Amino acid sequence: MKFIRVAECYSKLEELSGRLEMIDVLKRLFLEARPDEAEKIAYLTLGKIAPDYEGLELGLGEKLALRAISIASGVSDQIISKEYKKIGDIGKLAEWAVGKRPSLFGKEELTLDRVFNSLIKIAKATGSDSQDIKIRTFAGLLSDSEPIEARYIARIVMGRLRLGVQDMTLLDALAEAYLGSRERRSLLEEKYNIYPDIGRIARAVAEKKEKGLEEIDVTLGVPIRPMLAQRVKSADEVIERIPKMYAEHKYDGERMQIHIWRDGRVKLFSRRLEDITAPYPDVRDALKAFVGRDMILDAETVAVNPDTGEILPFQELMHRRRKYGVEEAMEQYPAVTYVFDVLYLDGKSLINLPLRERRRILEEIVPKEGNIREVIYKEIDGNLQELEAFFEEAVEKGMEGLVIKDPNSRYQAGTRGWNWIKLKRSYISKMIEPVDLVVVGAFMGRGKRAGTYGALLMAAYDPKEDKYKTVCKMGSGFTDEDLSRLPEIFKPYITEVRDPSVESKIEADVWFQPKIVLEVIGDEITLSPVHTCGFNSIRKGSGLAIRFPRFTGRWRDDKGPEDATTEDEIIQMYKSQLKEIKEEEKIKEEAA
Ligand code: AMP
Repeated sequence: MKFIRVAECYSKLEELSGRLEMIDVLKRLFLEARPDEAEKIAYLTLGKIAPDYEGLELGLGEKLALRAISIASGVSDQIISKEYKKIGDIGKLAEWAVGKRPSLFGKEELTLDRVFNSLIKIAKATGSDSQDIKIRTFAGLLSDSEPIEARYIARIVMGRLRLGVQDMTLLDALAEAYLGSRERRSLLEEKYNIYPDIGRIARAVAEKKEKGLEEIDVTLGVPIRPMLAQRVKSADEVIERIPKMYAEHKYDGERMQIHIWRDGRVKLFSRRLEDITAPYPDVRDALKAFVGRDMILDAETVAVNPDTGEILPFQELMHRRRKYGVEEAMEQYPAVTYVFDVLYLDGKSLINLPLRERRRILEEIVPKEGNIREVIYKEIDGNLQELEAFFEEAVEKGMEGLVIKDPNSRYQAGTRGWNWIKLKRSYISKMIEPVDLVVVGAFMGRGKRAGTYGALLMAAYDPKEDKYKTVCKMGSGFTDEDLSRLPEIFKPYITEVRDPSVESKIEADVWFQPKIVLEVIGDEITLSPVHTCGFNSIRKGSGLAIRFPRFTGRWRDDKGPEDATTEDEIIQMYKSQLKEIKEEEKIKEEAA
């Protein structure tokens, strides 16, 4: 398949906003593709070249990308840089520059295969001459590109494709193309939840339709999408939903899916399916005791104080996810892993067994003590007092609350359903809930903060438009140490111009790619003309702002920008806060 066909399809997708139309365009592209091409299209359309868990990142630095565009087009570095500031979109810039290219030499038409293989080469280049290889390979592609091809290649290379196609839309298109109808997406989704490799799914179904899917099952080394919990506000509601329950401690740490091979290999995956084996060498070593069988466990890892055995707040663990200090963090705060599920054992998937059965198997393999141990839980049969007492006991021990599970339920990968319910402390005490916001920019500090940032520009996520919208400037809550390190931490994310996915009315001194998520607590949410979050949703010409925002100290390295609190959630919080204030006023009035 020629790459121009793919580029034209992407261009069409950009113009469309209706999901059904997008599905139709993609379906037609798939129908023209060979199975191995369907695999490549599936990855590329999501702006990827491999499943996330393989950790193969494209993200060519901005400087290198600009250099390559200059080489391929013959336009000077200075002019490229100036145009980039004006255009603000690397794709449009490449398109423009390639159009300026002298047409002295003949070009070779690009194929999908060549583009894909070159992208893999760019991602895999390592070692001292890797920069050179990356620039040359990218420039090579651009030299043979039509302008419209250059637009998409450049965006993919920079990790900024953003066609507005989510993985579920892609599954819809695959279902239409190869299974005859969108109604049958659930067949694909079920496989995708246990084997989240969109390329593999596309290839299988393109090759052998439904039969191809039968070959896909839970596999050691491939993370299963985690099952998630619904939330409720009170213990009563829990009893209504699941009268006969396992009530488990809710540890405030990092979700960890543990893959163990009988020969001793171990892989740890995060909630977002990233490979997080490297920051947890102590967990990996502790897992040696389990070697000899193949298994997949679902667990939560917390940091503990080695002197007191106390479970420490989540941010102590998150130090490990930063690039420095794994060794120190490990010594200072060793990790304990609480295992709450077993999903696979010796070649067999267990996810369709009822939890009661899985728990029985779990208790055979995981001890109740040590650094890898079984979760603490209680079987409760409809008794509210018993549930409340267990909840309070858990909170007293430093837990976030409880996760209540239906013993008869199977493991619903990738689903936030009512078979798992979380009952958290903050919902009960009516404390204002913190939010998780994305850092999109910064303001230079003055006086005591000269040389570092004085405040960060924070945004909520809008999944409908795939945009980040600002809600506050945040300058408090940082420790001196954090503060002095801010420029160093954010350096890799600096962009010369505002990322097209960031919507802001405020001019920051420095712009960042939306990547890092911080937990923020504020006093209240107010109307604000300067922030873009919830703009025009409550009042025309106003957005919403968080007043007195403070960093809670939690670097949410476990969350990606798309997992941040959404614009809609902020709007809901504003509305519910309004209701509460009104109720308070009513009570006051009645009393008077
Ligand atoms: P939340 O992050 O608030 O949506 O809560 C769900 C998370 O709680 C899960 O993703 C796990 O990381 C964590 N968790 C802690 N303890 C448990 C447990 N016993 N069962 C399931 N999840 C747990």
